[in-house]
Amino acid sequence: NEKRAIMDDTAIRRALTRIAHEIVEKNKGIDNCVLIGIRTRGIYLARRVADGIRDIEGKPVTVGELDITGYRDDRMEERSGAPANAQIGAVITDAAGKPLPVHDKRVILFDDVLYTGRTIRAAMDALMDRGRPQSIQLAVLVDRGHRELPIRPDYVGKNVPTSKQEKIEVSLSEVDGEDDVTITH
Ligand code: 5GP
Ligand code: MG
Repeated sequence: NEKRAIMDDTAIRRALTRIAHEIVEKNKGIDNCVLIGIRTRGIYLARRVADGIRDIEGKPVTVGELDITGYRDDRMEERSGAPANAQIGAVITDAAGKPLPVHDKRVILFDDVLYTGRTIRAAMDALMDRGRPQSIQLAVLVDRGHRELPIRPDYVGKNVPTSKQEKIEVSLSEVDGEDDVTITH
């Protein structure tokens, strides 16, 4: 098992700063935008980009979080123990843990790694069960390819061509004590 560095802390910081600028540019500001991080690491990416946007625009942007475990169509093991029809975890909350309205909002989803696209499809299902967003955009730190659905990110930290056997490891200081991205094969 060989491990190779893809991004260090500086590269991650620069990529997230760039994405903050791209979001502000594409949306002509941040009015009506909410950044929603997919647990676990997407949440920290969304928070960091929100901090960047506040520095750029001088006003705060709403950050929320989404747990789509119950919406995935191909990970039955994560649902074991729950009733077959339970939509466990499909909650969108604000920083205080309260339900976050998404109706008519420009939603920008954040995840650490984009692969087949099934997680994002499930996230869109969960969002649209809760209202009709004005639009949904997607930001990811790493796009590793191998899409199985017609989904593409609007904002990408780094495109990393991978084989299906390879695995990207994303470490973020908030949960892992350090910032870096590596590839193992
Ligand atoms: P997808 O649903 O697009 O197949 O996979 C994306 C989801 O699975 C993301 O939530 C991501 O965290 C996780 N994932 C898929 N492949 C990788 C990978 O190589 N490394 C990491 N860290 N996460 C992955
Ligand atoms: Mg994930």
